[in-house]
Amino acid sequence: MAAEVLSNAGMRVDVFDAMPSVARKFLLAGRGGLNLTHAEAPEPFVARYGARRAEVGRWLAEFGPQQLRDWAHALGIETFVGSSGRVFPQEMKAAPLLRAWLHRLRGAGVSFHARHHWLGWDGDGSLRFATPAGELKVGADATVLALGGGSWARLGSDGAWVPLLATRGVEVQTLRPANCGFNVAWSEHLRLRFAGTPVKTVSASFIAQDGSVNRQDGEFLITQHGVEGSLIYALSALLRDCIEASGGAVLHLDLAPGRDLARLTRNLAQPRGRDSLSNHLRRRAGIAGVKAALLHESAAPDDLATPERLAALIKSLPLRLTSPRPLDEAISSAGGVDFAALDGNLMLKALPGTFCAGEMLDWEAPTGGYLLTACFASGRAAAQGLLRWLDGAKNADARKCADPL
Ligand SMILES: Cc1cc2nc3c(=O)[nH]c(=O)nc-3n(C[C@H](O)[C@H](O)[C@H](O)COP(=O)(O)OP(=O)(O)OC[C@H]3O[C@@H](n4cnc5c(N)ncnc54)[C@H](O)[C@@H]3O)c2cc1C
Repeated sequence: MAAEVLSNAGMRVDVFDAMPSVARKFLLAGRGGLNLTHAEAPEPFVARYGARRAEVGRWLAEFGPQQLRDWAHALGIETFVGSSGRVFPQEMKAAPLLRAWLHRLRGAGVSFHARHHWLGWDGDGSLRFATPAGELKVGADATVLALGGGSWARLGSDGAWVPLLATRGVEVQTLRPANCGFNVAWSEHLRLRFAGTPVKTVSASFIAQDGSVNRQDGEFLITQHGVEGSLIYALSALLRDCIEASGGAVLHLDLAPGRDLARLTRNLAQPRGRDSLSNHLRRRAGIAGVKAALLHESAAPDDLATPERLAALIKSLPLRLTSPRPLDEAISSAGGVDFAALDGNLMLKALPGTFCAGEMLDWEAPTGGYLLTACFASGRAAAQGLLRWLDGAKNADARKCADPL
């Protein structure tokens, strides 16, 4: 996005990427349908960026969800709004959009240099790259860094830039998993029988540290190590923060969201006769398979024998999360370049002429198209900041020439 704005303004632009080809994570996002943005109203949209809503809101005011859809349209990619409000390309793929975009950028004179791994700066301020032909130094009037966060390192964004900036006096918040799964101490039985099984139509609630009750309906997946999936990701920032502060987090699952507690208790209190407990649970409460296994995982024998306690557990089953899964597995990263290290042009105060954009900045958002939207918008904002900065420097030079004293 930054390259596009800069080349449209007549700049010569070179894009360097460590990987053999660009935009690998963008292509991976396409495997899940490429959720480009979201169709909700501006106010709730901006609220998704939480503590960073003011900063991200400024980028979105210039290039928000509708501008993103118009931009895709101009590349020949139609978008549609899914039932949840999420916006996808008609083909639900990233490759056609990326192909058309790279073609347009190359046509506008942007040069791409793959397999160029940025190593920092040389003593004279030039950029150092490791390339297959050896180390290369490149001088530039200005630089936009868009190095990503630290998840899925094999796609290129490995977070190795953090010490490069930190040693130059740039404040960087530790990269942490966002939109991530969590570890749960499953029993051997649950892990062996149910890893890979989705738990459908549940409602999860979590009381955050500030006392707010956060509820999320949907589904999640049992994994070897714990839980992941859309329902978990939606609550993951709060869960992660709680674990960091207190060493654990307890999520409460309503395994039968369509049934109220009183009815469930009445149904479970009906005589079981010769029915096994599994049959009784299935017939009277609709609980079977992985849901029954989750119930057995947390329930004491007494709970299973008492209809009131059983019903209460079905409506509010505690699931203890011990730690987030590693950053590399997460959908995105929290942390990154601190906003206090940037000026209003997204330029690093400690490194004039170097601008930052995308996930490497210290903001986070849930899935739903909010990540790509803010990445695109910040790329444009950084490029516009860069143009303003160059313009200011040019005017200062002109003033010096006119008045050499
Ligand atoms: C599985 C998955 C699915 C996703 N689906 C969606 C989705 O549907 N919707 C959505 O909004 N978001 C989605 N995301 C998140 C989204 O893809 C990212 O937020 C976004 O790609 C970040 O863009 P970026 O340009 O900031 O960083 P990246 O896309 O990570 O790009 C950073 C680039 O910098 C390069 N780089 C890093 N370090 C160096 C270096 N030292 N030298 C040279 N090059 C370097 C990397 O090779 C990489 O190409 C998904 C993420 C994942 C992992």
